[in-house]
Amino acid sequence: MPGILYDSIVYGPVNSRRFGISLGINVLPENSKVCSFDCIYCEVGWNSDFPSNHSNQQFHAREDIYHSLKERLIDLKERHMIPDNITFSGNGEPTMHPEFSNIVEDIKKIRDQYVPDTHITVLSNSTTLNNKSVFDTLLHIENNIMKLDAGSENMFRLINQPVDNIHIEDIVENLKIFNGKLFIQSMFLRGEHRGEPIDNTTKEEVQKWLDHIKAINPKGVLLYSIDRATPNHTIEKVQYEELERIANQVRHLGIEANSFS
Ligand code: SF4
Repeated sequence: MPGILYDSIVYGPVNSRRFGISLGINVLPENSKVCSFDCIYCEVGWNSDFPSNHSNQQFHAREDIYHSLKERLIDLKERHMIPDNITFSGNGEPTMHPEFSNIVEDIKKIRDQYVPDTHITVLSNSTTLNNKSVFDTLLHIENNIMKLDAGSENMFRLINQPVDNIHIEDIVENLKIFNGKLFIQSMFLRGEHRGEPIDNTTKEEVQKWLDHIKAINPKGVLLYSIDRATPNHTIEKVQYEELERIANQVRHLGIEANSFS
């Protein structure tokens, strides 16, 4: 069964513990998920829930995104509701929109005109950084929140189920090139998938993940456990205390860490 799909370009604002007052932007199709991962916890659902749409994806047009955001910001400004963040998220991986870089440039212009103190935030699964245009664009926004859920290649494949030939070492190498201008977000969970046990909280997995975190040296790490229904029904929520045990190991590296459960 499909999960939650955003049926508009602009949604919110919502009051988020992570991003304050956050105005969401969904640049992806309204009726389909578009992602290079198929995470076992994805609240949008499995990629296979949307098979007919994959060959005919209707991305939101750049002009529509521009006008939707502009109208919403004018409305919010009139009501003195200035968002802390304009956050790219939505029905999959936002950087897969073919005009992602141009859209970000448009949004920067609107932001500068109407709400200059608002930050631009992109939630990404870290798989499109080989695209120079995407990478250069991300380097010039305020907040990159990049996904890294696993330490080992095996756990990466079990949890994130990359669609293409993407390996965790390649992702880590690309994240290192940010030179610390990013946050890492990581989902911790246990369960099983297709008969294989999944647990990225074991000592060995956490140590491998910490090695990646140390090499990437982000501004901070956001640790999560599941919060909503997942397409894989075996997934178990990791409690806050356990997230904090892992967060403390990040702090010992001299890197800020926050847990959300
Ligand atoms: S990266 Fe995000 S959108 Fe893509 S499958 Fe994973 S959770 Fe879903």
